[in-house]
Amino acid sequence: MTADSGVARTGPSTDYSRLTPLPKGTRATITGREGEWLRLDYGGWINTKETSILKSAVPPRSLIRSIRARQVDRKTEVVFPLQVPVPVSVQQGERTFTLTLYNTTAQTDIIRLDDDPLISRLDWQQLAPNQVQYTFNLKSQQQWGYKLTYDGTSLVLSLRHPPASSLTGIKILLDPGHGGAELGSRGPTGYPEKNINLVISQLVREQLIARGATVYMTRETDQQVSLPDRVAMIDKLEPAIALSLHYNALPDGGDAINTQGVAAFWYHPQAHSLANFLNNYLVNNLKRPNYGVFWNNLALTRPATAPSVLLELGFMINPNEFEWIVNPQEQRKLAAAIADGITQWFRTVTPKSRVP
Ligand SMILES: [Zn+2]
Repeated sequence: MTADSGVARTGPSTDYSRLTPLPKGTRATITGREGEWLRLDYGGWINTKETSILKSAVPPRSLIRSIRARQVDRKTEVVFPLQVPVPVSVQQGERTFTLTLYNTTAQTDIIRLDDDPLISRLDWQQLAPNQVQYTFNLKSQQQWGYKLTYDGTSLVLSLRHPPASSLTGIKILLDPGHGGAELGSRGPTGYPEKNINLVISQLVREQLIARGATVYMTRETDQQVSLPDRVAMIDKLEPAIALSLHYNALPDGGDAINTQGVAAFWYHPQAHSLANFLNNYLVNNLKRPNYGVFWNNLALTRPATAPSVLLELGFMINPNEFEWIVNPQEQRKLAAAIADGITQWFRTVTPKSRVP
């Protein structure tokens, strides 16, 4: 893998679902080829553009012996020393984080994991002759983001610790969708989504700052920002949560009069609770129609560094909803409700602060 985070898929085209991205440096044997896609020995497919081909008589396989963990900067870093950087996959459960290493055989005899704010216990098993699975049993249900990188041939998994339960000092990233030449959806008057996304994001920022949060925005003006740049900002800033704000367009063949409501999108299980909570909160507190909560593989739901949610706050093309969307008083109510929802969600998912 030559890309920072190689896009592994279940088949040889972008129509196929994404698997866990492969960290830069990962090695695997090519077992098939279709067009510009390579099938790798562990089952995933990858675009040749993200790879370079090494000639070797020996397939990349690894043994793993010891594992060690350390706490740095509100994270737990777990180091898996390997002989070769092998393909990996991640699965987040209700209270587990599971990491699978392919082409790997365990000779593990010792694991050091001190008492940890996040992890209650690490279990492992050799799942198949070439697959080792590590299950991190977690102290709470909410997960706060992770990164997987290769440092030479050592795999480094960094798991973020929970933030404080109040918004004071908490970093929140807001992403006003579209901007510049990219208009987004349009209202009945031609009013572009990019404008309202920025207006509502600025109002939400004001409300969050008033509640003590530190707020970052992917854009502050009407400018074009690429999706990779937005994602890179999340990965670099490591906010406690990332929220992308949009207004919806009508699906193909949709009925403009009867399609309306708030929707929330999530991708990694760590973002599900926030998506669900905010969607319910807006529907119940503002009496908005519920368009639904969706698992969806979007550029701004895909970041794994932080729980990342995308909200579609209403349908631009619905004439009634559009009136609500552009009403300044309703915009202020909506921004306050989003900030209140975020505040309450933090209270429900973070560990209770100790009683003095
Ligand atoms: Zn949009």
